[in-house]
Amino acid sequence: MGPAGRLGGAVALVTGGASGIGRAVCARLAQDGARLAVADRDEAGAGVTVGGLHAGGGTPHAGSGGSPQPHAAFGVDVAEATSVTRLLDRIQEHFGSPPRICVGCAGITRDEFLLRMGEGAFREVLGVNLTGTFLVTQAVARALVAAGAPGGSIIHVGSIVGKVGNLGQANYAASKAGVEGLTRACAKELARFGIRCNAVLPGFIVTPMTDKVPPKVLEKFAGMVPLGRLGDPQDVADVCAFLASEDSSYITGASVEVTGGLFM
Ligand code: NAP
Repeated sequence: MGPAGRLGGAVALVTGGASGIGRAVCARLAQDGARLAVADRDEAGAGVTVGGLHAGGGTPHAGSGGSPQPHAAFGVDVAEATSVTRLLDRIQEHFGSPPRICVGCAGITRDEFLLRMGEGAFREVLGVNLTGTFLVTQAVARALVAAGAPGGSIIHVGSIVGKVGNLGQANYAASKAGVEGLTRACAKELARFGIRCNAVLPGFIVTPMTDKVPPKVLEKFAGMVPLGRLGDPQDVADVCAFLASEDSSYITGASVEVTGGLFM
């Protein structure tokens, strides 16, 4: 779909947009006509994502003021409140409006068995995956409400591991279970502003994050997936595009599993 596509030039913030699932979400939302604010602590990587969007035909559209650069890259640490506040200010300066779509893909793993896990590794993962999701959601919602903007779609990238747990991932599973609870509370509070909030729960998706998983473990999970393969970032991006669009206008507080049927 071209730049005047179904997202109609809406500003879309994607955190974690320098890599993996976030980068694929950026590409898909741009195809659907959104103007992307690609944010990551890897600002250079976010710039590479933006370069790819422009090379892939991110041309100006009605409402972008004829700017030849409808997408932009930003550095952010989602775990730091001041960094997130500054991000929202910069996005509004750049695009002239707050993001009506937000996809929170920034996330980390620090795997270790419970008996050996340090408190630092637990707090670090909670800090990025859960507190970071809270800070970005709150900042986007505040900006939308302040602007009186009708509507909005906030999408949290959780994980199926938040539902079923996983060996060596007590910190990660706890953070992603928290993200689901956060999603449902935000959906209830933000509905009166016309802002929807949903979660996607990927299974095993091949990205730089899964490079850290031993190949034997990945093979084992691939064999367990009813659809017979590990996931691709595009599989998750397509669901995010649906949740970002008006095609899902009566869906809020939902968690959509994107797992190929794993753990159903
Ligand atoms: P990825 O390739 O590692 O991408 C994550 C991106 O987030 C990286 O660019 C990372 O930067 C960035 N990031 C990390 N901490 C940040 C922070 N504090 N502030 C801003 N950016 C930060 O991982 P992915 O596989 O695409 O994962 C994306 C999301 O999907 C994550 O939330 C992950 O938990 C979730 N997920 C992934 C899978 C999977 O199988 N891949 C499954 C379920 C859920 P650095 O590289 O500098 O850390």
